[in-house]
Amino acid sequence: AYVIAQPCVDIKDKACLDECPVDCIYEGPRKMYIQPDECVDCGACEPVCPVEAVFYEDDLPEAFIEYRIADREVFDGI
Ligand code: SF4
Repeated sequence: AYVIAQPCVDIKDKACLDECPVDCIYEGPRKMYIQPDECVDCGACEPVCPVEAVFYEDDLPEAFIEYRIADREVFDGI
Protein backbone atom coordinates (compact mmCIF):
# COMPACT_ATOMS: atom_id res chain seq x y z
CA ALA A 1 0.00 0.00 0.00
CA TYR A 2 0.94 3.63 -0.33
CA VAL A 3 1.45 5.71 2.84
CA ILE A 4 1.01 9.42 3.57
CA ALA A 5 3.84 10.60 5.79
CA GLN A 6 4.85 13.60 7.91
CA PRO A 7 4.91 16.30 5.19
CA CYS A 8 1.09 16.13 5.12
CA VAL A 9 0.76 17.12 8.79
CA ASP A 10 -1.14 20.41 9.09
CA ILE A 11 -1.14 20.73 5.27
CA LYS A 12 -3.87 18.34 4.09
CA ASP A 13 -3.85 19.67 0.53
CA LYS A 14 -6.17 16.81 -0.52
CA ALA A 15 -5.07 16.76 -4.17
CA CYS A 16 -4.74 13.01 -3.63
CA LEU A 17 -8.45 12.60 -2.97
CA ASP A 18 -9.38 13.49 -6.55
CA GLU A 19 -6.95 10.90 -7.95
CA CYS A 20 -7.75 7.81 -5.90
CA PRO A 21 -9.88 5.40 -7.97
CA VAL A 22 -11.07 3.46 -4.92
CA ASP A 23 -11.63 6.37 -2.50
CA CYS A 24 -9.39 4.89 0.16
CA ILE A 25 -7.89 8.17 1.41
CA TYR A 26 -9.42 9.50 4.61
CA GLU A 27 -9.07 12.76 6.51
CA GLY A 28 -7.66 12.70 10.04
CA PRO A 29 -7.34 15.56 12.50
CA ARG A 30 -3.90 16.62 11.26
CA LYS A 31 -3.14 14.63 8.09
CA MET A 32 -4.66 12.40 5.46
CA TYR A 33 -4.55 8.60 5.80
CA ILE A 34 -4.58 5.78 3.23
CA GLN A 35 -6.55 2.68 4.25
CA PRO A 36 -3.89 0.06 3.41
CA ASP A 37 -6.31 -2.82 2.86
CA GLU A 38 -8.30 -0.78 0.30
CA CYS A 39 -5.34 0.76 -1.56
CA VAL A 40 -4.77 -0.96 -4.93
CA ASP A 41 -1.21 0.36 -5.33
CA CYS A 42 -2.03 2.34 -8.47
CA GLY A 43 0.31 5.17 -7.43
CA ALA A 44 -1.95 7.92 -8.78
CA CYS A 45 -1.87 9.90 -5.54
CA GLU A 46 1.89 10.11 -5.26
CA PRO A 47 2.83 12.56 -8.04
CA VAL A 48 0.00 15.02 -7.33
CA CYS A 49 0.96 15.67 -3.70
CA PRO A 50 2.41 19.21 -3.58
CA VAL A 51 4.46 18.44 -0.47
CA GLU A 52 5.66 14.97 -1.58
CA ALA A 53 4.12 13.25 1.42
CA VAL A 54 3.10 10.04 -0.40
CA PHE A 55 5.39 7.01 -0.68
CA TYR A 56 5.03 3.35 -1.53
CA GLU A 57 5.39 1.56 1.81
CA ASP A 58 8.65 -0.13 0.83
CA ASP A 59 10.11 3.17 -0.37
CA LEU A 60 9.47 5.26 2.74
CA PRO A 61 12.50 7.34 3.74
CA GLU A 62 14.02 6.22 7.04
CA ALA A 63 12.67 9.31 8.81
CA PHE A 64 9.08 8.37 7.91
CA ILE A 65 9.26 4.60 8.37
CA GLU A 66 7.00 4.71 11.47
CA TYR A 67 4.04 5.81 9.36
CA ARG A 68 3.80 2.41 7.73
CA ILE A 69 2.69 0.84 11.01
CA ALA A 70 1.14 3.86 12.73
CA ASP A 71 -1.23 4.63 9.86
CA ARG A 72 -2.33 0.99 9.58
CA GLU A 73 -3.15 0.99 13.29
CA VAL A 74 -5.51 3.93 12.77
CA PHE A 75 -7.80 1.61 10.82
CA ASP A 76 -7.50 -1.45 13.06
CA GLY A 77 -10.78 -2.28 14.69
CA ILE A 78 -12.82 0.08 12.51
FE1 SF4 B 1 -5.61 5.39 -3.87
FE2 SF4 B 1 -3.94 4.49 -5.77
FE3 SF4 B 1 -3.04 6.19 -3.88
FE4 SF4 B 1 -3.66 3.66 -3.21
S1 SF4 B 1 -2.00 4.32 -4.59
S2 SF4 B 1 -4.24 5.53 -2.09
S3 SF4 B 1 -5.42 3.27 -4.59
S4 SF4 B 1 -4.58 6.64 -5.46
